[in-house]
Amino acid sequence: MTRIVREPGKTMAVDPVCKMTVDEKTAKLKSDYKGTTYYFCAPGCKKAFDENPAKYLRPESQHKTGCGCGCR
Ligand SMILES: [Zn+2]
Repeated sequence: MTRIVREPGKTMAVDPVCKMTVDEKTAKLKSDYKGTTYYFCAPGCKKAFDENPAKYLRPESQHKTGCGCGCR
């Protein structure tokens, strides 16, 4: 059985635009939106987010509605 082991001390953020994981320690591109910091893998992702943050933060874009897990 394979377990997902999280490396201690490593905090990974998810780029809300392309869903890539970004290391918060090395990420140079970030945006604050409504009190939350978002990290980006590329300038194009940050630009797209800054122009329309709500588009990338809608739960539907990252999770199917009605999946039944109750996460949102
Ligand atoms: Zn990206």
